[in-house]
Amino acid sequence: MTAETEALLSFIDRAVSPVHTVLAAEDFLRAAGFAELPWAAPWTLAAGGRYFVNVYGTTLLAFTVGEDGPLRLAAAHTDFPCLRLKSAPGLVREGYGVLNVEPYGGLILRSWLDRPLGLAGRVALRGEDAFHPRVVPVDFARPVVTIPSLAIHMDRKVNEEGKLNAQTDMLPLAGLLGDAGEGDWWQAALASELGVPADEVLSFELSTYPYERGCTLGLAGELISSPRLDNLTSVWACLRGLAAAPVEAVPAGVHLIALFDNEEVGSRTKQGAGSLVLADVLRRIYRTRGGDDAYDEAVASGFLLSVDVAHGLHPDHADKCDPAVRPVLGGGVVLKQAASQSYAGDAEAVAIVRELARRSGTPVQDFVNRSDSRGGSTLGSIASALVPVRTMDVGAAILAMHSARETMAAADEEALIALVRMVLA
Ligand SMILES: [Zn+2]
Repeated sequence: MTAETEALLSFIDRAVSPVHTVLAAEDFLRAAGFAELPWAAPWTLAAGGRYFVNVYGTTLLAFTVGEDGPLRLAAAHTDFPCLRLKSAPGLVREGYGVLNVEPYGGLILRSWLDRPLGLAGRVALRGEDAFHPRVVPVDFARPVVTIPSLAIHMDRKVNEEGKLNAQTDMLPLAGLLGDAGEGDWWQAALASELGVPADEVLSFELSTYPYERGCTLGLAGELISSPRLDNLTSVWACLRGLAAAPVEAVPAGVHLIALFDNEEVGSRTKQGAGSLVLADVLRRIYRTRGGDDAYDEAVASGFLLSVDVAHGLHPDHADKCDPAVRPVLGGGVVLKQAASQSYAGDAEAVAIVRELARRSGTPVQDFVNRSDSRGGSTLGSIASALVPVRTMDVGAAILAMHSARETMAAADEEALIALVRMVLA
């Protein structure tokens, strides 16, 4: 495994929830000389400064401020499909403790069966001020639950039919409670995990994650198999791209990465790409440097690279791919285009990325949907409707998007980092 792949997999291993994605990103940025700015207090920005701002714990923006120069942006998302615990999730069935969960995002349910799963997210504890509870990140950091399949002997048609219902087939098994399953056993277990009295736990956002590390595979180790490639490959590329400029030579202009939560559920939340967070932060930066006009001018000539994974051609299902445009794993960064604008981009934006790729020797390829298939969407169109900047959707090609474990080519991550670097460094 190359050092590059090892670094990506270590990052993914830490980023087990959007909260943890942001914490891991902050650690990376601090080590690269970035300083934290408060979301809720005024800023002073030094020329040549490197900063990040945490927005509600699950969204992170980081930027460098140089002399007068262009606005260059890259964006990705910190969230990924999973099963999220509902409130009061602790159920008891014949002495088994199970958790009541609901899907977050469009996950492939069957890929979550029979795996050791961890639990991570955040918990809100009673604080001095009712408006400011004490919110703490939580990662059980061990396998805690699993969602067992039904034996084939009791479900003879599983391979032909095999439908799964998110409410009745997907509740994780959390333990053998026997007669101990009285009262709110989940609340008691969570409080004991945190070492606080049960009545101090006011609420939580906790999700399952596959308790397993990514690895390389393929005869030459050329592939990566890992949870959360969507979209931590892009978060990692944004972080690497922004930090690539040497501390003593921050590039002219404003270079910013926006790592948004809630893309998998439509982005329309206070910290999602459908909010005013990006516009507000940019206005704040330009205001601090002397005036809103500068913001408008910067946006009009700026550029945003929206980074999210793409569908690579599947060897068993090549017919699902467009008959002519056929991106493959290992073929380089994918430029995603759709007439519907479910992916952001126009001829000018495509041209910009193609030229940056040519100048940096980065391989690129194209993706379009089959004309009879709707395909997916990204945050690119949503963010660029609020900050009207030229935008292009790109990403690494993967297989099994939204499975508990996805597959990509190791070389594509390096190409992606190289391209993001051309935009940001
Ligand atoms: Zn994604």
